Amino acid sequence: MAKKQTTTPMMVQYNEIKAQYPDAFLFYRLGDFYELFNDDAIKGSQLLELTLTQRNKNSENPIPMAGVPHHAAQNYIDILVDKGYKVAVVEQMENPADAEGMVKREVVQLVTPGTRMKDTAEASKENNYLVGISTLSMQTGFGLAYADLSTGELKVTRVEAVNAVLNELSRLETKEIVTDATLPDDLTASLTNLGIMQSKQTELLNNAEISYLTQELTDKLEEQTTSILLSYLFTTQKRSLDHLKIAQPYEVAQFLKMDRNSRANLEITTNLRTQKRSGTLLWLLDNTKTAMGGRLLKQWLEQPLLDQSSLEQRYDKVGVFVDEYFTRTSLQEQLESVYDLERLAGRIAYGTANGRDLLQLRNSLRALPAIIAALEQLDTHIFGDFIKQIDPVPDLEQLITDAIDDDAPISVTEGGVIKNGFNAQLDQYRSVTTNGKQWLADLEASEREATGINSLKIGYNKVFGYYIEVTKANIDKLDPERYTRKQTLVNAERFITPELKEREQEILEAQTESSDLEYRLFVEVRDTIKSNIARLQRLAAAVSTLDVLLALATVAEDYHFVRPELTTDQVIDIKDGRHPVVEKVLGHQSYVANDVTMSQDDLILLITGPNMSGKSTYMRQLALTVVMAQIGSFVPATSAKLPIFDQIFTRIGAADDLISGNSTFMVEMAEANTALQNATKHSLILFDELGRGTATYDGMALAQAIIEYVHAHTQAKTLFSTHYHELTALAETLPHLRNIHVGANEENGELIFSHKILEGPADQSYGINVAKLAGLPDDLIDRATQILTGLEQQEVTVANESEPKLAEPATAYVPENVPDAELADDAEQQLDLFQIEADTVSQAVLEE
Ligand code: ADP
Repeated sequence: MAKKQTTTPMMVQYNEIKAQYPDAFLFYRLGDFYELFNDDAIKGSQLLELTLTQRNKNSENPIPMAGVPHHAAQNYIDILVDKGYKVAVVEQMENPADAEGMVKREVVQLVTPGTRMKDTAEASKENNYLVGISTLSMQTGFGLAYADLSTGELKVTRVEAVNAVLNELSRLETKEIVTDATLPDDLTASLTNLGIMQSKQTELLNNAEISYLTQELTDKLEEQTTSILLSYLFTTQKRSLDHLKIAQPYEVAQFLKMDRNSRANLEITTNLRTQKRSGTLLWLLDNTKTAMGGRLLKQWLEQPLLDQSSLEQRYDKVGVFVDEYFTRTSLQEQLESVYDLERLAGRIAYGTANGRDLLQLRNSLRALPAIIAALEQLDTHIFGDFIKQIDPVPDLEQLITDAIDDDAPISVTEGGVIKNGFNAQLDQYRSVTTNGKQWLADLEASEREATGINSLKIGYNKVFGYYIEVTKANIDKLDPERYTRKQTLVNAERFITPELKEREQEILEAQTESSDLEYRLFVEVRDTIKSNIARLQRLAAAVSTLDVLLALATVAEDYHFVRPELTTDQVIDIKDGRHPVVEKVLGHQSYVANDVTMSQDDLILLITGPNMSGKSTYMRQLALTVVMAQIGSFVPATSAKLPIFDQIFTRIGAADDLISGNSTFMVEMAEANTALQNATKHSLILFDELGRGTATYDGMALAQAIIEYVHAHTQAKTLFSTHYHELTALAETLPHLRNIHVGANEENGELIFSHKILEGPADQSYGINVAKLAGLPDDLIDRATQILTGLEQQEVTVANESEPKLAEPATAYVPENVPDAELADDAEQQLDLFQIEADTVSQAVLEE
């Protein structure tokens, strides 16, 4: 056969569509399959482990092809989108039987990482945000808008610097951004490094929905950014998005600020090592019963509050739930039967909700009266306003109860969705169908009797419709006048009669009419609910808040947390504070509780103590306590007084900077700089072993200078752990610095950590003991001990000669409101000693 070289009409159509979506996989609907062609097929077959075949095998250039069955498509689409690709879904827009020529096909949805709606249990506890970024010419700063398509959340803000953009992107765990402009190179590079997809939307749609959603925005940049985001959503989703909420402007400064490193270091929602939830503060606190509550708790943790009265209101409610054990547990039981109202609302608006979804909605609504009744038993001062927010939408509950069959199937087009008695016409069709079936059964009985053939039966198939089947052995018992032969099988013959045909027509018509009508009725019901979406969303917000407050009360009781007392005089007074996650892992008994005491005058706690003694844990413990207090949670302590902090800065551990790829020391200094530049009197700074990343002298010099700087200028509450024991002498010159240390004892050469925080500097560093603990060879440990002894003897000798002078405290840094610090004689001598020690050590190291 001669090989042909023509492009078939279908491939012409395919190529036309593909040209509009060059960067997406095209899932091209062909009967019961979605087909991928050409490069899509080659790449797709690898990524999805599909068999690669060919279309037009006999032509000169066969076309690579791979297909997935249409019912399994979602799964494949998810895999591709998870891997960071876009998928354009092309559907047949008309019934192939009715089509003249090529079946019309169109892209009905572009699925992208930021617009996908994944429905797994694991995904349901996470939001999935698409973020819009935009700039205005002649102005600085960026507009940043975000939406979660599954819940309808839509928010927008303005930030000044690239770094602030990155902080928000990381808070939102952004997978895709959309922009209209060329972004600055450093931002683009960071986005690439973070694996964030960058989509372009240059065309601004100007539709009524966008005007409606942006109506509350007064800032030009915020409005523009939101419009770009929405234009992209409408362009890719190609449907009404009635569940999107009116865009809400916010300011980053309304919330406790933590940059992305601090969030990561403190393991608020993501475990540093595993990148999972386990071992995080979220993991500890998440006792929520609904997926939407889980998402809200995460949002609270990402945006702790600054407003005292809002926090007190949360504490009040948590407090009541801690006291009222039975109410709490019965409320939580009720919540178990509340489904994800937020996402149900999303599916209803999106037009993907089926009969079962509506039943889930109804069942959820049915739980509400009991929830309201339980809350009404509680203190009305505390819960009065809250109860008012819970509208159980009884009209919708009634509508679904009346309309939707309790055994509704997943499909909405094949009948069985609408309840009997809801619509007279539908009932009529159904009775025709049911009567028809009865009639068929009667016919079978009477035919058996008339012919005397007991095995005679009536059946149905798609080609011949209803028929009477008789085995070959019995054929001669039939009256050939009455029975028309339609089909011959091996052992039987199939016949029709005029009366059977007539009735068949009626039954089949009624069935089609009936399922068509059912579908229309279903859509009507769904649309009625859709017009009430805002009510459902308000309800969802109230229920998720309740869920989170109950969860906080549960953990407060389980782990013995206490209501914090918020102070306005910058005093921290925590009794028996604990690191809640470490405590959970170690067990309450094994954890050594520690106080954190900082008076108004204390700005810096300088923490010394051996490695592994618990310095870092102590610092994190304070930060986590602050975060918990500022989301409205009780805190791990027996009593806790805390100010409201505006920002938390941390330099903890050696978290690699994934974004810039800088060296550890560079990152360390950059983070220190961020803290020094931005911290206020109301901030909390945690510096863990700052200066460790460089040579001893450098590191110590920088550490001292940074401490002095914080002391004089920043005046933030600062915890500074260090292994430079020399620095402890700063307490003599810096009146707002206090030394504390973590206790450890040596017993028979073994190091015993007490994990207890004590006043004053540590007396030894125990480095060798820790090395021993870590299992280094005995020989090596002995040798190190020997060297150390040698060094210590030298030190005594040199110290007696009392030679070199050390860095004078920087007088320029002494804060105005503090009496000039006089250097005490003995302090001077002590400083000398430390300086010399450092000298000698490094010299000895050089000589070794
Ligand atoms: P450092 O920062 O001093 O090197 P870490 O804070 O990392 O020490 O603590 C080391 C280990 O000691 C932790 O992993 C933890 O298991 C344990 N630890 C720390 N603080 C406590 C405490 N207060 N009670 C019990 N164990 C603790």
